[in-house]
Amino acid sequence: MCLRVDPWFIEIVSKEFMYRIGQEEIEELRCVIESRQLFRSGNAAGGHQQEVVRFEREWGETIGRKYALCLSGGGTAALICGLVGMEIGPGDEVIVPAYTWMATALAVLAVGAIPVLADIDESLSLDPLDLERKYTPQTRAVIPVHMTGRPANMQAICDFARANNMFVLEDCSQADGGSYKGRRVGSWGDAGAFSFNDYKIMTCGEGGALVTDDLTIYERALVYHDAGTAFRPYGQDLSIPIFLGQQYRASELMGAVLRIQLQRLDGILSDLRRMKNAFHEQLSDVANLRFAPGNDPEGDCGVLVAFQFDDEASARAFASAPGVEGGVPIDSDKHVYTNWTPILEKNIGHHPAVNPYNYSQNQNLRTDISNETCAKTLGILARTVYLAMNPDWTDEQLQARIACCRDAMK
Ligand SMILES: *Cc1c(COP(=O)(O)O)cnc(C)c1O
Repeated sequence: MCLRVDPWFIEIVSKEFMYRIGQEEIEELRCVIESRQLFRSGNAAGGHQQEVVRFEREWGETIGRKYALCLSGGGTAALICGLVGMEIGPGDEVIVPAYTWMATALAVLAVGAIPVLADIDESLSLDPLDLERKYTPQTRAVIPVHMTGRPANMQAICDFARANNMFVLEDCSQADGGSYKGRRVGSWGDAGAFSFNDYKIMTCGEGGALVTDDLTIYERALVYHDAGTAFRPYGQDLSIPIFLGQQYRASELMGAVLRIQLQRLDGILSDLRRMKNAFHEQLSDVANLRFAPGNDPEGDCGVLVAFQFDDEASARAFASAPGVEGGVPIDSDKHVYTNWTPILEKNIGHHPAVNPYNYSQNQNLRTDISNETCAKTLGILARTVYLAMNPDWTDEQLQARIACCRDAMK
C-alpha cells in the first residue's frame, strides 16, 4: 500500500539496516496524527499523546539514569548538548578517539573547544593508556565511543577521568542498549549520547538522546536544545539562568516511533548477540582465525563480528574470500580521522571568527592534527575485518556465512 519505491531498492536497504520497524509504529503514529498535536509540549486534556515525555522517562529507566532528553539533530546534537551541559568551551581540550564517526570531534568544535585525538587499542575503542598519555591540565573531558556496539573500557577510563577531574561523555550512538559490566552504556560517564538515525540499532529516521544523573548537565542541555526555553512552563522551575542556545526539539512523531522501537530493542540485541556468539563458538577452533578482544563480550551489542590478522594483506584476503562479505574498517570513510578533511584542514564554521582554531583562548592548546597523529589506530584498523550481523538471518543463512569463514581459512 505504501510501496512507492521499486522492490530492488527495498532489498538493498534492508540488507544494511539492523533495526526493525512495522505496523506497531504506524499505529502509534496514527494516534499522534489523530490528536493533531505534533509538538513535544501540548495539552493532554485536549488529546496530546505525550510521546516524547513518555519516551524520555522510559529511556532514562532503560539506561538507568535520572534524566533523559530526546532531541532532533541526532547523536550529534546529543553530544553537543552534553558538552554544553558540562560547560565545555574555548580554552578546553576534549579527548576523542581517532576511530569514530567525525561527529564526535565535530561536537567538540561546535562548542568552541579543541578535540585532541587518542589512539584505540586492540579492542577497537579508546586506549586508556593513550588517554593518560594525552591528558594535560587543559583536558576538561573525554568522549569514549562504543564503536560498532562494542563497549569501551569504561572502568579504566572513568577511574582515570575521576582522578584527574575530567568529565566523561559516552558516545553510545552505535550501541543503543549495549552494556558494560552489567550496566547499560550511557550510565557510566557523567552523561551519555545516543543516536537513532538509519544506521543504528533503533531509529526514528533521525534523532538522539542525552542521559545523565546530573541536574545541572540536564538543565543546561534542556535550555540549549530549546532555543532558550524562556517561554515554556518548565522554564520557571529551572535552577540555572536561561541562556540562548539552538533548536533541537524532538517532535511527537519521533517520540511515537521511538517508544515502539524501545519495545523492540532487547529482542534485536538478543538476536544480534545470538548470531555473533554462533560465529565465536563455531569458529574458535579454526587455525589462524583470531577474534578481536572485547572489553565486555556479553555487553557487546553483537552488531558485528571483528577478526584480527597479523597484516593488512591477510585481512583483505579473508574479507574478500567467497561468501565472507567482510569489510576492513580502515576503508570506513569518515569513521577514520585521516578522512576528517574539514578538521585536518581546519575549515570549521561558516565564518573565520567562529572557527575555534582561531580563538585566542585556544592558541596554547594542542591544535596540531595530521595524518600521522594516531598511526597505531590506522595499523589496527587495516588488519581488522568486520562481518556485519543481521538480526533477521535464518539459521541456514547464518550457517552458510559461518561455513564461508571456515572455508576462507583453508
Ligand atoms: C552516528 C554517530 C554519531 C552521530 O549521530 P547522528 O544521529 O548522525 O547525529 C556520533 N557518533 C558516532 C560514533 C556515530 O556512529
